[in-house]
Amino acid sequence: MELKSWLASADAPHSGFPLQNLPYGVFASGSEDHIGVAIGDQILDLRACARSGIFDGLPQAIVRACEAPVLNPLMALGTTSWSTLRRRLTSLLDAQAGREIQRRVETHLVSMSGAVMRLPAAIGDYTDFYASIDHATRVGEQFRPTNPLLPNYKYVPIGYHGRASSIVVSGGTIRRPHGQIKPPEDPPVFAPTQSLDYELEVGLFVGPGNPLGQPIPIAAAEDHIFGLCLVNDWSARDIQSWEYQPLGPFLGKSFSTTLSPWVVPLEALAPYRVPEFARPAVDPAPLPYLQSPAPDRAAIDLTLEVYLESNRMRQAHVAPHLLGRSNLRHLYWSLAQMVTHHSSNGCNLRPGDLLATGTVSCPDPGSEGCLLELRRNPEPVRLPTGEQRRFLEDGDRVTLRAYCQQAGSPRIGFGECSGTIAGPA
Ligand code: CA
Repeated sequence: MELKSWLASADAPHSGFPLQNLPYGVFASGSEDHIGVAIGDQILDLRACARSGIFDGLPQAIVRACEAPVLNPLMALGTTSWSTLRRRLTSLLDAQAGREIQRRVETHLVSMSGAVMRLPAAIGDYTDFYASIDHATRVGEQFRPTNPLLPNYKYVPIGYHGRASSIVVSGGTIRRPHGQIKPPEDPPVFAPTQSLDYELEVGLFVGPGNPLGQPIPIAAAEDHIFGLCLVNDWSARDIQSWEYQPLGPFLGKSFSTTLSPWVVPLEALAPYRVPEFARPAVDPAPLPYLQSPAPDRAAIDLTLEVYLESNRMRQAHVAPHLLGRSNLRHLYWSLAQMVTHHSSNGCNLRPGDLLATGTVSCPDPGSEGCLLELRRNPEPVRLPTGEQRRFLEDGDRVTLRAYCQQAGSPRIGFGECSGTIAGPA
């Protein structure tokens, strides 16, 4: 029988936060930050649950982790503890729960609409990959028309070390950055970027880490993934194109990265696992250390969307305009391959580290995960107001959404990852 919650809003169509999801986040509660779980249009306050005895009988380490102001201690505990807590949360919120349990839990629900969300974890390190071959090919065509995909792409999950300090939670403004911009025929100038872009990405939070010097074998990689969220890796393309050789992205990326506040547990995504990317026969097989032990469920069928709303659209109450719809299942490299490759040299990952996929695009038009890819179209993007876009303008609000859905099951939503462009300082 389909699991249902006693909380009516959890079972509303398209709530995105049914009993089957239970994503974790951090919200402001007075002068403190508390861990919470999203259910319907409410947040269950886990610190309040821990202190009120509702978690009695759970291992002390789990109860203590629920009292922390960030998710890192819970992330560090590992899959067995995550499942134990998830089972308890499910039973507390299940329609079968008794009236007395319901009454006790209800006192710890907070309305999501009024909540101020924080970053879910203290993020020690942020790494960004480049795992969508469709994105890599379309971008490569613009930087290197004759040689879009470099020879290492099908062997190496390409990535770079990003900047953790400038990661912000959804809902804020993004200041248009200054940087060096090189006009084709003139020396570079230092000016606000004229080529501000978004990147539609999925992030994974590292659970238990690995000791320095001890790689994570691919068979164990998913035990190190706490859950997934949405990432907008804002990019200044003009700054990027001038600075990126020979060492890769730098200031064109590090000015800001926006994260959705809810981290969806990998366990909630189990029904949506699909076979790994089908490599064409001419492509090399991954090297042995990157070969998935469970190729029939290495990928995730997760729909991703990006919407744009200009200042004028907002004033005219025009609904945000869909710019692209993509799917995580098309990634050339899986999440497990990213974790294993990252640690394959002995590099230690730590609880709360963030690994992002890179822009997720699909083969078909309309699936582009950034404006840079849309530049191959002869016409600029046209908004419902008649405005046109090659890149983002001040006042533009970009919102990422994601969900898993299949017939007969409630939608597993990721919430929103949004940011609004503000003029240069
Ligand atoms: Ca990126």
